[in-house]
Amino acid sequence: MTAQGTKTNPLGFLADEIEELKRQNLYRPMRVLSSPQAAEVVVDGAVLISLSSNNYLGLATHPKLKEAALAATRDFGVGSGAVRTIAGDMTIHERLESELAEFKHTEAVLTFQSGFTANTGVIPVVTGENDLIVSDALNHASIIDGMRMSKAPRVVFPHKDTAALRELLREAREKGRKEAGGAPYRLILVVTDGVFSMDGDIAPLPEIVAAAEEFGAAVMVDDAHASGVLGKNGRGTVDHFDLHGRVHIQVGTMSKAMGVLGGYVAGSRALREMLIQRARPFLFSTSHPPAVAAACLAAIHVLQEEPELIDHLWANAIYFEGELKRLGFDTGFSETPITPVMMGDSATAGRFSGRLFEEGVFAQAVVYPTVALDKARIRTIVTAEHSRVQLDRCLEAFGKVGRELGLVSA
Ligand code: PMP
Repeated sequence: MTAQGTKTNPLGFLADEIEELKRQNLYRPMRVLSSPQAAEVVVDGAVLISLSSNNYLGLATHPKLKEAALAATRDFGVGSGAVRTIAGDMTIHERLESELAEFKHTEAVLTFQSGFTANTGVIPVVTGENDLIVSDALNHASIIDGMRMSKAPRVVFPHKDTAALRELLREAREKGRKEAGGAPYRLILVVTDGVFSMDGDIAPLPEIVAAAEEFGAAVMVDDAHASGVLGKNGRGTVDHFDLHGRVHIQVGTMSKAMGVLGGYVAGSRALREMLIQRARPFLFSTSHPPAVAAACLAAIHVLQEEPELIDHLWANAIYFEGELKRLGFDTGFSETPITPVMMGDSATAGRFSGRLFEEGVFAQAVVYPTVALDKARIRTIVTAEHSRVQLDRCLEAFGKVGRELGLVSA
């Protein structure tokens, strides 16, 4: 044996890094639920009111979705058995996509295993080295990863700054591709989240679309947090702003308000065709189990049959945010049911979340690197399922802990 004998652990640095994260209050433990995802949950053995899920409409436990999943399992089994292009394309997958396309008022839809893989799948397919991607500074990690996987260069515009976006587009059109002697870009793709998941603010989509149209660019919106939340029956930001036909790529998720799992890309028939040929998560990873596809399909029906769920969601969100502000909290720029409660440093955010837990409220701290180092926060999401009594109990806990930690006055 050499001096570097078998006792040395080559991955020993991981434990050191974990200790360092803990020292900086940046370590995020996982909390374990032993109940269904709902307004009230059992977390690490304690019964708590949850403000931590993306289950906006309570569909994760909706009887129609559960029944659809059970029936699909009985009829088609628990797994699809293959990638869709090999032998894993089932009638339920096709039906989900055609109904989703109709729902979204687009020509076609292709589903992916998740919203994350929808983004990493679509961006490298539609963009290449002769193109340019123009991205909002606060876009989701999956958009960033999608851009990293593309051969296209990218430029970032400051968050929601449409004047800066116009300037970038103007310059890109005027100067063209530097490395190709000013030859024009084949495609300029502007990419934005529809709802930004850490602040709950909405993209200025009408201005983005206008700028893109002026300079002949295409627009892609990631509507993960707008799916089931914004627009008629939760059709998303394109419907919310009445921009049908003017946004070329819509990414959505079925993992949040739709209560199940999965992502999709809605757009033209040619886009769907090309994704089937080239999108790597689609081509190299097994399709959804029948139960998942069937439950997603049932979710689209519930969105249309029970619009009162979205009304409840918004009434709760407006009430909760208004009361947090009345208590003196800084709720940032929220315009949706995502309401951040700003804490500043990660130690305060961690302590606040821990104290809320003791007070019967499950609301997680969001810290660096998910948000900037000095922008740690408690991120809250109310759902259609929360009763006013439950929200008032949460507000009482926020007030109590806020006073204790000196964030709000008595
Ligand atoms: N995009 C955005 C903006 C998101 O917030 C998320 C989820 N955090 C995703 C994509 C990924 O969606 P999914 O959970 O379906 O993978």
